[in-house]
Amino acid sequence: MARDVPSACAKVPLRANRTIVPRSSPRQTLRLGVSSCLLGSKVRFDGGHKHDRFLTDTLGDYVEWVSVCPEVEAGMSIPRESVRLVGSVDEPRMVGVRSERDYTLRMRRFSARRVRELATLDLDGYVFKKGSPSCGMERVRVYQRGMPSRSGRGIFSAAFMAAYPLLPVEEEGRLNDPSLRENFIERLFAHRRWRILVDGHPTRRDLIAFHTAHKYLLLAHSPERYRALGRFVAGHKRLRIQAAVGRYGADFMAAFSVRTTRRKHTNALQHIAGHCREYLDHHDRAELAQLIADYHSGLVPLIVPITLLRHHIARNDIPYVSDQVYLQPHPKELMLRNHV
Ligand code: SF4
Repeated sequence: MARDVPSACAKVPLRANRTIVPRSSPRQTLRLGVSSCLLGSKVRFDGGHKHDRFLTDTLGDYVEWVSVCPEVEAGMSIPRESVRLVGSVDEPRMVGVRSERDYTLRMRRFSARRVRELATLDLDGYVFKKGSPSCGMERVRVYQRGMPSRSGRGIFSAAFMAAYPLLPVEEEGRLNDPSLRENFIERLFAHRRWRILVDGHPTRRDLIAFHTAHKYLLLAHSPERYRALGRFVAGHKRLRIQAAVGRYGADFMAAFSVRTTRRKHTNALQHIAGHCREYLDHHDRAELAQLIADYHSGLVPLIVPITLLRHHIARNDIPYVSDQVYLQPHPKELMLRNHV
């Protein structure tokens, strides 16, 4: 179901009592920043929008949107002349395509202020409109002597990403790729679980439990970072707990920025299958091993071996692995693992 599209800066009301990830508690709804035109707001230079149905009709069921149109919020009209970036890639200027009027200072001041405001909203990530001189995340055209190079970043998105380097960000166009989509949404939910942990004033034991529950999910992203986080959790006792939680969180989100691969998923699946071995008979073990091999070969999607593992773990009440977030890191209704 599409939700009402909010005006710039507005937030969509939460649906009451929505459960997202069974193992998490308080506010499980994601809170995401988004370029307003992607929600269907008619804020583009030509008075149109770039409504993205996946965002509003599918992901939107789990999201409280914080929509931002930098150009309109910075005082530019609808409709307006289109703008583009010119000059240096690192510090481009924003100018009108026809008038060559310079909007750079206005947009930089707005961006600095709005980015500070967003810090108070506890965002889990951001979805930007691709290619925009204000919102584009990468490969935005920057003109030098009339010639475009696709190497820039929008002025607002650059300020946002510099201020929040560990927050997951994506462009709507890249979310058409099933692998990028799954990876991004997995990061968003990882960030939300992390925030829930932090808001609960965790003890050292809570931090260890959090890390333990994420073991195989971390392994599927980065075995190296997983091991480093394990060493940190085991040996951080000289740090105050708040400092330890903060350090862990930064490294935890950095681990999720490393993309999963079929090989790393296969490794995680085999580890979990190893825990199940003693509970399964010869036939079940062989069937599970074959499905993991089929996934590794690209014959079946990830959801297939995961479903069989979940079945065995639930039926045999297998300890340790039953609490692994890896088995369901995001709502099954999104069907993200049906396509990777
Ligand atoms: S891309 Fe950004 S600046 Fe342009 S209309 Fe959309 S929200 Fe506004």
